[in-house]
Amino acid sequence: MDNKESLALHGGKPVRSSYLPYGRQSIDEEDIKAVVDVLKGDYITTGPTIEAFESAIANFTGSKHAVAFSSGTAALHAACYAAGITESDEVITTPMTFAATSNSILYMGGTPVFADIDPHTYNISPQAIEQLINEKTKAIIPVDFTGNPADYDEIKALADKHGLVVIDDAAHALGAVYKGKNIGSVADMTMFSFHPVKHITTGEGGMITTNNDDYYEKLITFRSHGITRNQEKLLHLKEPWYYEMQELGFNYRMTDIQAALGVSQSKKIKAFVSKRREYARKYNETFSKSEHILIPAHKQHSESSWHLYIIRLDYKKLKADRNEIFKALQKENIGVNVHYIPVYFHPFYEQLGFKKGLCPQAEKVYKEIITLPLFPKMSEQDIDDVIAGVEKVISYYSV
Ligand SMILES: *Cc1c(COP(=O)(O)O)cnc(C)c1O
Repeated sequence: MDNKESLALHGGKPVRSSYLPYGRQSIDEEDIKAVVDVLKGDYITTGPTIEAFESAIANFTGSKHAVAFSSGTAALHAACYAAGITESDEVITTPMTFAATSNSILYMGGTPVFADIDPHTYNISPQAIEQLINEKTKAIIPVDFTGNPADYDEIKALADKHGLVVIDDAAHALGAVYKGKNIGSVADMTMFSFHPVKHITTGEGGMITTNNDDYYEKLITFRSHGITRNQEKLLHLKEPWYYEMQELGFNYRMTDIQAALGVSQSKKIKAFVSKRREYARKYNETFSKSEHILIPAHKQHSESSWHLYIIRLDYKKLKADRNEIFKALQKENIGVNVHYIPVYFHPFYEQLGFKKGLCPQAEKVYKEIITLPLFPKMSEQDIDDVIAGVEKVISYYSV
């Protein structure tokens, strides 16, 4: 192999001259103006823009209620609170996720129970869930991994049979569709995140959607210290100035500054998701022809919102492992990532007593996957660069 073609890892010329991140926000002048308008107005927090953003997400997802939070993690914590998770409860979730998913169970004193993934979709396996249900089980938290909806018919059937709450961690799945229904209106409660790498952003921020009035009341109270001003609910004094803290809540409120960005961004959800789908289709068409690359299965009845694009490599046909390929791609200036380290591999979870070997499918997939850049602001050229980089690295290491 001559020098021109050699890997950047070994001193050759990279496929790209500048580094391409795996994800980033798309902010335009309209978004900036919306934020500035709020800054010039009367309310910069807990004002009318919060409700406008909540309505936008409720309308988009087709759910009755939406409650904004300071982060997706805060929103998940609130959902676990509303679901009534306590110290004596077990909650079944996937290890193939960001730590926030299972941390939210720990915040309530509950015990996370990890169910293994389906080796084709990398989503939580309903069969694995079923085997873990016992009298302590209180809830199930599936993640719509990469934006690919989990198996809700099967999961809801188990939840109905055993009286469990289903909380969808849809941090990846704004704009995804499960059997004709929008994600956000499928589970008992659904969490969205507005971190900059997600579909739309508020800097930091999150939302819970639900059709259930009781959950809605609890979410609202939990978001603001557990304090109520609802005259009908006051226990000690019914005066217009009076308020009571009746439950232990937090300050998990979103600001109107953030909500202004959210309202403006939410007008573009469809455009952002369709750009992601278009790029994912291009990756799929290219990579499905490669004997070295496996792309996760997507069910006919669902439409992914393509938060992440993950490839899995066949290392039997390569002279390198994932970590070597990862470094080689990074040196080509392609912002690769790994989603995710199985949650219970983290030292904190190890200390809680979780051991390697718990979810063999998740552990196997973890060792083989690489996340490629995918976000709406990428250009066609960026997509071509990623493809060129992957092909270059794979052909170099091919046996
Ligand atoms: C981003 C993310 C979260 C947390 O959301 P934040 O808004 O960053 O707190 C939770 N779960 C998953 C799967 C995520 O990707």
